[in-house]
Amino acid sequence: MAKPSRISLAEMARQSGSMLRRGDSAHFDQGLPPTLAELTESLFFSPGDGRIWMNDQRMLLWHSSAMGHLRRELIDTLGLDRARGLLTRAGYVAGARDAQLVRERWPEGDAAAVFMAGTRLHSLEGAVKVTPLSFDFDIDRGTYEGEFLWEHSSEDDEHISAYGLGTEPACWSQIGYATGYVTSLFGQLVVFREVECRSMGASVCRVVGRHAAAWSDVSEDLRYLQARDFRSLAETSPASATVVPAVVQPVAPDGGDRHEIVGASSAFNSACHQLARVARSQATVLFTGESGVGKEAFARRLHRISARADKPFLAVNCAAIPETLIESELFGVERGAYTGASSSRPGRFERADGGTLFLDEIGTLSLVSQGKLLRALQESEIERVGGTRTLRVDVRVVAATNVDLQAEVRAGRFREDLFYRLNVFPIHLPPLRERRDDIPLLMNHFLRRESLRHGRQLTGFTPRAVRAMLHYAFPGNIRELQNLIERGLISAEDGAPIDVAHMFRREQLSEETLLAIGAQGTLSAKPQASPGTLLETLRQQLGPSQPLSLPALEHQLLQETVAACKGNLAAAARQLGLTRAQLAYRLERAAAPGRRKPRGSPKGDAG
Ligand code: ZN
Repeated sequence: MAKPSRISLAEMARQSGSMLRRGDSAHFDQGLPPTLAELTESLFFSPGDGRIWMNDQRMLLWHSSAMGHLRRELIDTLGLDRARGLLTRAGYVAGARDAQLVRERWPEGDAAAVFMAGTRLHSLEGAVKVTPLSFDFDIDRGTYEGEFLWEHSSEDDEHISAYGLGTEPACWSQIGYATGYVTSLFGQLVVFREVECRSMGASVCRVVGRHAAAWSDVSEDLRYLQARDFRSLAETSPASATVVPAVVQPVAPDGGDRHEIVGASSAFNSACHQLARVARSQATVLFTGESGVGKEAFARRLHRISARADKPFLAVNCAAIPETLIESELFGVERGAYTGASSSRPGRFERADGGTLFLDEIGTLSLVSQGKLLRALQESEIERVGGTRTLRVDVRVVAATNVDLQAEVRAGRFREDLFYRLNVFPIHLPPLRERRDDIPLLMNHFLRRESLRHGRQLTGFTPRAVRAMLHYAFPGNIRELQNLIERGLISAEDGAPIDVAHMFRREQLSEETLLAIGAQGTLSAKPQASPGTLLETLRQQLGPSQPLSLPALEHQLLQETVAACKGNLAAAARQLGLTRAQLAYRLERAAAPGRRKPRGSPKGDAG
């Protein structure tokens, strides 16, 4: 029988039920993959060519003392607070990367085992020895609570040798690591906090992780996850004292700032650093990057942290205004300048006086408008359309483009002198696929914001929805991510998580992505079709003519689960809610003489 793309029965059961969607330390089976031994096998030394690999990620073997030296220099140069932020965010990236490794290498893994793999990798990488005291999570309900002991923290060793004991915890990058790992797997912000630390005189460090919403005072922790080199500006510019922090904050009742910028990845940090550097100057800034990467949000942020913060910010999308109107829109118009100009009115330049004017899609301006814009930039002077007076304006122009302006110059469609005038300080904003570490943060951010806006109460995302998001290419970048989450939020039920089919249409996902998230053949084109009942799914898979033979289905489920657990009967039994002996008995019974051949799966299907 020719059936398109089947998934394993075990996977189906998982999607339909809640077998693996929660876990706790009391029932955790140490033998489930990935074990410490299996994780250790992901580490490859390739000394001949100067590389070390952890699965497919390049690693470094570095002296703890060198890290300690760097840490000390960061603290001395930037101050304790900013150094802590930098190291926390670097740790976050490492944790998010390790979560990616585990997700890709063990896509079928038991949820608790996958969470525990983070503690094992953290130990394996030489940061700390982790001993779980307790953990308990439920992905459907969106809860996570965990408590761990950290021994031999290398960061504490370095901190204590440089500064002695103090009153604050010092395992900053390790806290970032734990937050990055669990957040990335969970798809919601889980914040770790060090409640006791060796650097404070404790014999071991003790850390607690909780869903961000479950901490009553999380803003202090979030401060360190934020790409806020804006602090340096707070010292020099009083206007920036009110800067809204960059990352996920408890959202204001109105849904918060529509233009918040969110991220912790190195690509995002680098753009934020450039932004902070140029904000204090008066230089023209040119944002480049694909559609939807957040150019306007960055421009607004630039304005808010500049000395012009209390003056107007105006945004103009040059492509959205007809060619015939753009000049009067930008520079204003005098009465009678043309038919229909019945009264004089100021343009955007005049209205932005003292403040910032954001010109999006600058590449679409006509050559005539480009000439006038150049004059406004060079002379700080404009003339209204039909006017004779020259008006002085003090406007900082921030432009953005998603086309290659240099190519436009070569093609004769963009003035070279204007290009150089605009390109004084270019900031490239990376597409989302180049800052994947930020995807969980963005998912959490938009889920919270849109939930408030729509008055909805969802519990987060299913693991495969998180996997799909992390795999997806996002041609429309952050705007698309936001739209997907809004669509998911509207399609999903309150009290339940958002699943893949709530966000994506079947044709949006490549076969490769479907395979990677284990949802091949299960996403129908109907947006609401997501989990369905197990019976419906089985009917779809088997076709209407096939009988549903319970013994055959049971045997198939047992075999697939054993295969998925790589033959580990104890692990398979735990997944099936059986004892090992019960499982062995059932397997034997099915294989007893007189057995029918169970309806097997096609080759390569199980496990
Ligand atoms: Zn510590």
